[in-house]
Amino acid sequence: MKKILLRPGKEESIQRHHPWVFSGAIARLPEDLQEGEMVEVWSSKGTKLATGHYQIGSIAVRIIEFGERQINPDIFEERIQNAFELRKSLDLIRPDNNCYRLVHGEGDFLPGLIVDIYGDTAVMQAHSPGMHHDRMRIADALVSLQNAGIRNVYYKSDTTLPFKANLAPENGYLIGKYDGCLALENGLQFNIDWLKGQKTGFFIDQRENRRLLEKFSGGRNILNMFCYTGGFSVYALRGGASKVVSVDSSSKAIELTEANVNLNFPGNTRHEAVAEDAFRYLDSIPKGEFDLIILDPPAFAKHRNALKNGLIGYRKLNLKGFEKIRKGGFIFTFSCSQIVTKEMFRLAVFTAASQSGRKVRILHQLSQPADHPVDISHPEGEYLKGLVLYVE
Ligand code: SAH
Repeated sequence: MKKILLRPGKEESIQRHHPWVFSGAIARLPEDLQEGEMVEVWSSKGTKLATGHYQIGSIAVRIIEFGERQINPDIFEERIQNAFELRKSLDLIRPDNNCYRLVHGEGDFLPGLIVDIYGDTAVMQAHSPGMHHDRMRIADALVSLQNAGIRNVYYKSDTTLPFKANLAPENGYLIGKYDGCLALENGLQFNIDWLKGQKTGFFIDQRENRRLLEKFSGGRNILNMFCYTGGFSVYALRGGASKVVSVDSSSKAIELTEANVNLNFPGNTRHEAVAEDAFRYLDSIPKGEFDLIILDPPAFAKHRNALKNGLIGYRKLNLKGFEKIRKGGFIFTFSCSQIVTKEMFRLAVFTAASQSGRKVRILHQLSQPADHPVDISHPEGEYLKGLVLYVE
């Protein structure tokens, strides 16, 4: 295996088990090193520190194994098996729940790899050239998992791989074929379209937060802003909401929401779906129309240089929510921007609350569910944060 040599003093973050080696830490790259290749990382003092996938860019190596020992040839099989055991122990695989995240990148010690399961199909995303390179091995490991029932593996990395890598990945089935499925989440049915949908087709990461929302829904008028597939709306209807309005700027998302609502509550008259921009919709409604508003926007800050504007976006959106919510109402507000920390998000929301002049209390502090684990050496893995607020 080829060796990468670090500059003096640059071994510290690896010794703390942070799984990324930045390009600035590298003294010398071996000749003919290909993107996606597995490499060894050595300190300037001649100690082998780790083994991982090499790529061109700011993150140069994503570490798969720390320490001196030779990397296990079955490392992917082993890690995927461990990830599956964890999901089983979390009781996520049940007759009434067949969708879950099986592999959450660094949080499952497989940096650059995401795998979501919908029934018997695994939808796999590579975020690194290394995982792209090893995709067939990973697909084989997925279908070989005992008792997981995975038959099809759909590979969807056209938007997740670094474009500089020039890999031109094609989306498609690596194993089997099955276009779209009915997934069950906590007993509710959802049409999942991994071919055309965002990300892997569904936002599994809101599962526990949707369940909490259900408990708040009885007899309330609810606005589900940025509804996408209508996840929160379907839970709100099951929770006994008197009315649910789902809003998304994408008409495709509105179709998906309507289909999912009809699937679970055929012929219901409590739901309405509106294709409209969030800010325009919030401006158009009278104050006090809704008892509960869900604000789950797309990541407003995807890169560090978008952080300032992203935070302004969160403040403005939440300000509109505070202005419109009924007295004694609830707001479920979220950010899924990885670079926006919990503290930054809270500051944006609290500033909005203060600008609105409303009296606001925090009832719940939300985050991502247990099938999206965070390796404590990689705090960047914590991306979803939310607050349930009581607004007087
Ligand atoms: N809450 C959803 C996930 C939201 S994803 C769930 O639980 O699954 C973000 C959604 O916001 C996308 O569907 C996107 O179409 C929508 N969106 C993006 N910009 C918007 C805007 N300005 N107004 C309304 N919807 C928007």
